Amino acid sequence: MTLTTRFAPSPTGYLHVGGARTALYSWLYAQKNGGDFILRIEDTDLERSTQASVDAIMDGMNWLNLKWTHGPYFQTERFDRYKEVIEQLLASGNAYRCYSTAEEVDVMREEAKAKGGIEKYNGLWRDRTDHPTDKPFVIRFKNPLEGVVVIKDIVKGDITISNEQLDDLIIARSDGTPTYNLTVVVDDWDMKVSHVVRGDDHISNTPRQINIFRALGAPVPEYAHLPMILGEDGKRLSKRHGAVSVMQYRDDGYLPEALLNYLVRLGWSHGDKEIFSREEMIELFDLKDCNRAPSGFNTDKLIWVNQHYMKTLDPAYVAEHLAWHMKEQGIDTTKGPALADIVKIQADRVKTLKEMAEISRYFYEDFTELDAKAVKKHLRPVVKEPMLLVKEKLAALTDWSPEPIHAAINDTAVELELGMGKVGMPLRVAATGAGNSPSLDITLALLDQKKVLERIDQALVLVEARIAAS
Ligand code: GLU
Repeated sequence: MTLTTRFAPSPTGYLHVGGARTALYSWLYAQKNGGDFILRIEDTDLERSTQASVDAIMDGMNWLNLKWTHGPYFQTERFDRYKEVIEQLLASGNAYRCYSTAEEVDVMREEAKAKGGIEKYNGLWRDRTDHPTDKPFVIRFKNPLEGVVVIKDIVKGDITISNEQLDDLIIARSDGTPTYNLTVVVDDWDMKVSHVVRGDDHISNTPRQINIFRALGAPVPEYAHLPMILGEDGKRLSKRHGAVSVMQYRDDGYLPEALLNYLVRLGWSHGDKEIFSREEMIELFDLKDCNRAPSGFNTDKLIWVNQHYMKTLDPAYVAEHLAWHMKEQGIDTTKGPALADIVKIQADRVKTLKEMAEISRYFYEDFTELDAKAVKKHLRPVVKEPMLLVKEKLAALTDWSPEPIHAAINDTAVELELGMGKVGMPLRVAATGAGNSPSLDITLALLDQKKVLERIDQALVLVEARIAAS
């Protein structure tokens, strides 16, 4: 039998970090076992489900490169099937029409509570046959009255729930639409899901779902409930904590490899190993090694992982992602150095690709404003002479590459008996507009020769102004 997992988001928002981790673990488990991975959109809540959210979920999955092998299936396209199963449950005596109103059920709960029992529907219509013909009804599942349900959870271990604690849950509303617990069971059954991986906020649903599987004579899947993710303040991760949408991490400049690697470790470990390639994740991941306790989100660690991947992945690949950010920031990179070369020199200078784009603008765009502090410090009257001399030497170069550029700067310093910095710093400020840049010879080499000479002239105007003012 093929192992089959699924990711079953409700399209009521973007793909958030918790959902992405669930999707990742489901996907990994299927990959590892040569199984299938289904994407199922649980869109039965018509009021809250939106197409924008379906798109956002798929964008997130695609960006993370979590490819589903089947689907996407949409629950709204399966109403006929749910109806069929509900009829089947009615016919087999495993479900019944309940004519109690919501108010009546509230009273039943109150009564049960007053008696010190479990607040639940009292089963009034469970065995009645005197059905009114003119009243609305819901359909309830006949939950077993006795015995226990044991969830053999791969992550949490055995969890035992007594049937007395469970009520006869509604499987079809008065308008005939099926409820979550019914649709999930029908889908997991029809789609031959063998392993249900989901957040532990669903644990209370699981015994109910197991009982429905049994009533249908369907095989019960295995379960793995993942503990929640906490924010840096120890509270459940939510919008308050800043970026929780997967696509927001893209916008903030993280590589998908970094977010995936970060997420795989957020709730699972393999010794003290931190960095996992996709292949390693697939090979080493196992649901049974997932943590039982909640995990805390740690942005510093995510940044660390991101820096690792920016520095170690193929620069040409990182450049594809950088290109997106350049465009996002309105930087036209059609003329200028290859982005892969930018990645090579900037990767260890930034935390994110967004920052990398920001600090690389001068490679592609001219500027008239220079960093005021850097100008004040490095474009002083005394630099006129070295700037003129280095310009002359740079202008004479026929091979515009790091070594001769380095020699030109060095020769200038030697000739004028200055330290390298006294030539290099003003040159750097002139060429890049600021006092920080990667190694100067490489930076200049990546810039066009003509452009560098023009920028030296532009800086000399500032130097002249200061001479005039002094
Ligand atoms: N649609 C449910 C949710 O988004 C998940 C259901 C499941 O995984 O069983 O929370």
